[in-house]
Amino acid sequence: MKYVGAHVSAAGGVENAPLNAKAIGARAFALFTKNQRRWQAKPLTEASIEAFKHSCQELGYSPDQILPHDSYLINLAHPDPDALEKSRVAFIDEMERCQQLGLKLLNFHPGSHLKQIPEDQALKRVAESINIALDRTDGVVAVIENTAGQGTNLGFSFEHLAAIIDGIEDKRRVGVCLDTCHAFVAGYDLRSVESCEQTFADFQRIVGFNYLRGMHLNDAKVEFGTRVDRHQSLGKGFIGLECFRYIMRDERFDGIPMVLETIDDTIWADEIELLYQFQAG
Ligand SMILES: [Zn+2]
Ligand SMILES: [Zn+2]
Repeated sequence: MKYVGAHVSAAGGVENAPLNAKAIGARAFALFTKNQRRWQAKPLTEASIEAFKHSCQELGYSPDQILPHDSYLINLAHPDPDALEKSRVAFIDEMERCQQLGLKLLNFHPGSHLKQIPEDQALKRVAESINIALDRTDGVVAVIENTAGQGTNLGFSFEHLAAIIDGIEDKRRVGVCLDTCHAFVAGYDLRSVESCEQTFADFQRIVGFNYLRGMHLNDAKVEFGTRVDRHQSLGKGFIGLECFRYIMRDERFDGIPMVLETIDDTIWADEIELLYQFQAG
């Protein structure tokens, strides 16, 4: 079973996200459980939590189909001790919010070394941050996203993801989300069936599909290997449709939320339908 959807709006309350997902024919969705550009957020109210759970149940979304995303401000590799602590506290809050909502995944970008500490140390720091958060929470899996490798961002290579996982004490509670746009601009080709075979074989060898807990399905607005994070609608960018047809027909991508973060939300319903058509034939 393929769960395809989009990163939908939770404006007005998290309980609106499942409704927004249903409206575009999504069988999966991503959401922010708080404003992603602010450090502080009011706790989720009991009413909001109940409404969210009720809607998900009513509309047929299980926690397997929902991939919450954390705030963009958090840097779990931060070289500065005070800033690192601030990020760790915020990350634990994000995990707790997921837990309150009955969710079991939290998707996040690993962090940045800001040219102040070596890459290997920064990766260890990310793992340590995740270990602390897992220790303070229950049942939520930390889902590390591969990045475009813009600036000093970590996580653009499969080796980075593997190094972080290697440092996690409870391996059952760590996973990976692969973003097709990020992989492509970071130098993993996805333009043909052959290149998809190669890239996902590399992923299997270095990280392992047993860790794959989600996908971000995005085309790329910029060319191969440019390490610039610019998403595009499916088939309108430099990756092209073949990659998405490949993914929809490969059972290694079954049973995980696969989420569009493409730039034109007015065509998400069409993109979801197109993806399901690929599966059919
Ligand atoms: Zn993404
Ligand atoms: Zn991106």
